Amino acid sequence: MDKGARIIFDLIDKEAYRQSHNIELIASENFTSEAVRKACGSILTNKYAEGYPGRRYYGGCEFVDQIEQLAIDRCKEIFGVNYANVQPHSGSNANLGVYLALLKPGDKLMGMSLSSGGHLTHGHKVSLTGQWFAPVPYDVDPQTHQLNYDLIYDKAMEEKPRLIIAGGSAYPRIIDFAKFREIADACGAYLMVDMAHFAGLVAGKVYPSPIPYADVVTSTTHKTLRGPRSGIIVTNNEEIAKKIDQAIMPGLQGGPLMHIIAGKAIAFGEVLTPDFKQYIKQVIDNASAFANRLLKNGFQLITGGTDSHLILIDVRNFVESGKVAEQRLAELGITCNMNSIPFDPSPPMKPSGIRVGTPAMTTRGFKEAEFEKLADIMAEALGKGISSTSKEFLQKFIK
Ligand code: PLP
Repeated sequence: MDKGARIIFDLIDKEAYRQSHNIELIASENFTSEAVRKACGSILTNKYAEGYPGRRYYGGCEFVDQIEQLAIDRCKEIFGVNYANVQPHSGSNANLGVYLALLKPGDKLMGMSLSSGGHLTHGHKVSLTGQWFAPVPYDVDPQTHQLNYDLIYDKAMEEKPRLIIAGGSAYPRIIDFAKFREIADACGAYLMVDMAHFAGLVAGKVYPSPIPYADVVTSTTHKTLRGPRSGIIVTNNEEIAKKIDQAIMPGLQGGPLMHIIAGKAIAFGEVLTPDFKQYIKQVIDNASAFANRLLKNGFQLITGGTDSHLILIDVRNFVESGKVAEQRLAELGITCNMNSIPFDPSPPMKPSGIRVGTPAMTTRGFKEAEFEKLADIMAEALGKGISSTSKEFLQKFIK
């Protein structure tokens, strides 16, 4: 190995150590299996395969065709759909693929605002999606911080968007997809659900499926689905499926990342096992126990709790900002991210909250008792300081 490569592998070793010696509470992260990682690091990265299985623009695709077909078939089985595109390089690309398929520049795009828990690609002004389309953001209810379907209906009827997006990055509650369908039908919009965060919950049947209601559904594959960093698009609408195929390739991307598609195929195979069902139920049970103990310890949870894998905390009754909270926890080897809260009076670089989630540590074997202990440690860390039993607990997991 040459020196240039060794420097990188030394850093990868350090990152591996960091990952295994930190308590990982970032709600959008997880730990993939060795099989997934092996596929992603395989010689498949050498292969060009523009096109789709059986209709490629390159020769030598007989094996990658089989790999992609397996990824497609498993993805279809997981979500009960007739069509899956497994080529988007990321969740953002999956969303762009849908917009390219269904919208024209300047069309109105209605998604949850970033501060209410939406994603940048749902029409934020710093994103291409907010610059090339006309964003019509909706907020959560100012009082409950939950989705208020009457307010969304009123805005949709006033603005008549071409596409409505349900889903987000920091919304802890169950989304009523039937309500969104009614709103989309009333104003004549397409309904897209971005299930990036809760796709694994849908797969494990601990969260309602958007499939019966949405025209098209996008997702990342690396969060609760526990696959490699990537994206997918699924639908039961044949017309839309054809447009999506065109939009992803040649519209948006060239060669698919066959090594990552192989990783997705393996991860989807894992999702179809009973072990995954048990895992995802534990993710939810852990989040519920974590939230209850955080509440008991005096934390203010946005929406008062969670129905999912993630919890959004307003930390201002403990410390001045989410940034300070993130730093204090990092000093103890606990990783989370600062996050804006709905109608946050503070700027995004110094927001009022933090977001935590249970998927990663549940993969590492944490159960309710460990998450309850973590809730105690968080209260101590942001309050009077860490007790000796908490130190002992942390030492078990941290360098
Ligand atoms: N959609 C949602 C709801 C997300 O939370 C994210 C990522 O955090 C994305 C899309 C974008 O995914 P990626 O980071 O793979 O582009």
